[in-house]
Amino acid sequence: MWVSGAPGPKFRYPQAPPGPGLGSPMDRVSPEQRSRNMARVKSRNTGLELKVRSLISHMGYRYRLYRSDLPGTPDIVFPGRRSVIFIHGCFWHGHVCKRAALPASNRTFWQRKITKNQARDERARCELLAGGWKILTIWECESRDVALLRKILLGFLGASGRK
Ligand SMILES: [Zn+2]
Repeated sequence: MWVSGAPGPKFRYPQAPPGPGLGSPMDRVSPEQRSRNMARVKSRNTGLELKVRSLISHMGYRYRLYRSDLPGTPDIVFPGRRSVIFIHGCFWHGHVCKRAALPASNRTFWQRKITKNQARDERARCELLAGGWKILTIWECESRDVALLRKILLGFLGASGRK
């Protein structure tokens, strides 16, 4: 079930033509949407995001991208399941791991920036939870193991119900 709008080019279906995995999701996005995506402060369509989306498609789930009407503009949205996924780069979102180590110079600047991002993430989290949304955060450093990622997604989303 889709919450709003008729299916358009920004929808991505699991029946997308089989490819090397990454596909070309940008082909399904209108130029306006594309420049809007590109203009976002947060980087979009990173290799990690494409990898996760590709996996989700192959698992048979339907999803939407970047619902800017939702708090925090989640990276992937499953309206029917009232579930969202955030894909976080460890550095920018201040994960507690090696990848998030601050550079030697301008530490105060980076620390302030990352703390701000974390506060924004937390606020979005609270608002989404209050709205009855389920949230999964996938960290960059935890996404190497595709088999594990698949298991996590299955646990979070439940069976896809379509093949
Ligand atoms: Zn990490």
